[in-house]
Amino acid sequence: MQAFIYTAQPVRVVFGADAWSTLQAEAGRLGVRKALVLCTPRQRALAEQAIAVLAERGAGIYDQAVMHVPVDTVADAQDAARRAGADGVVAIGGGSTIGLAKALAMESAWPIVVVPTTYSGSEMTSIYGVTENGIKKTGKDPHALPSTVIYDPSLTLKLPFDISVASGMNAIAHAAEGLYAQDGNPVVALMAEEGIRAMASGLRQLKAGADASGARGDCLYGAWLCGTVLGNAGMALHHKLCHTLGGSFNLPHAQTHSIVLPHAMAYNAVAADAAMQKISRALGRNDVSAAGALYGLAQELGATLALQDIGMREADLDQAADIAASRPYWNPRPIERAGIRTLLQAAYEGRPPA
Ligand code: NAD
Repeated sequence: MQAFIYTAQPVRVVFGADAWSTLQAEAGRLGVRKALVLCTPRQRALAEQAIAVLAERGAGIYDQAVMHVPVDTVADAQDAARRAGADGVVAIGGGSTIGLAKALAMESAWPIVVVPTTYSGSEMTSIYGVTENGIKKTGKDPHALPSTVIYDPSLTLKLPFDISVASGMNAIAHAAEGLYAQDGNPVVALMAEEGIRAMASGLRQLKAGADASGARGDCLYGAWLCGTVLGNAGMALHHKLCHTLGGSFNLPHAQTHSIVLPHAMAYNAVAADAAMQKISRALGRNDVSAAGALYGLAQELGATLALQDIGMREADLDQAADIAASRPYWNPRPIERAGIRTLLQAAYEGRPPA
């Protein structure tokens, strides 16, 4: 028997084809009279469609969301919200846009409605991150948890394949670490295994050129499950390493996840056998280790495999290992600097995990 504590996160999820036509009704359900729609410059056209769907509940668009949520962008968006008389936010996009919505809601306690258009899963968590003077402050805040998430596969039809893979592997990483989390529980484990299975299946179908709406539906379903795992269980070595590599060496977030994940699983395998079996099973690869199956999936999907290909310098690996080993955190296998340095070398070179 496993003892556990499970607190469900109160997020309403509306999932399906054409789900996003419910946007106005869903905003109204939360008592939002005027919603500011947030997006990146690249997704402005979609935000304009959202304003049309929101009709009289639309306050306007703020289209300057960028990666890592700089404090200046938050202040700028707050000004735009004040000028528009907003009392709620709608985020249309991926983790970067959702991150801006979270920062606004933490100050104002406004409800957030999210319409995700990538697979990274941020919409299901109360985890926020704001960057000031090059340092990203992260934490959890109940106001950062979206109230309603509307998943509509048709909005991800144009998501480029490389961003689909990168954000999808990011989601798989949440689920993989949730399977051995210190505060894991049976509900999270079920979601994690099913989330990995659905995401891998959807991405493989996309790669094979299958019917896009079915494949995109599987990916979004996987994103929901994997994001829910991240929202309910603490993370360990893999997420900490990615945070170090992104924060101190400015590597791109999503690609870093897909490169490091197989190596982090190889490091933890000796201490998390049941989790590893579930990962292999979810990937349909009972013939290889979880680390091998994840590396194989990344290869199959054409993902970047080596840190050296995304801007990491070999000369910085020692410092990265020092940072990763110097901050104590829970992990199923104790954090040993030498093992972390070996892991980083393999990830740097893009070799199959040990
Ligand atoms: P993203 O939001 O950074 O978007 C990547 C790019 O894809 C952007 O240029 C965006 O405009 C474009 N894009 C998004 N959807 C598109 C679509 N359907 N069609 C065409 N282009 C589209 O990507 P992401 O990977 O979702 O988010 C990464 C960020 O999210 C990181 O900063 C990470 O730290 C954060 N994150 C946070 C959490 C959390 O729980 N707080 C979880 C996962 C990721």
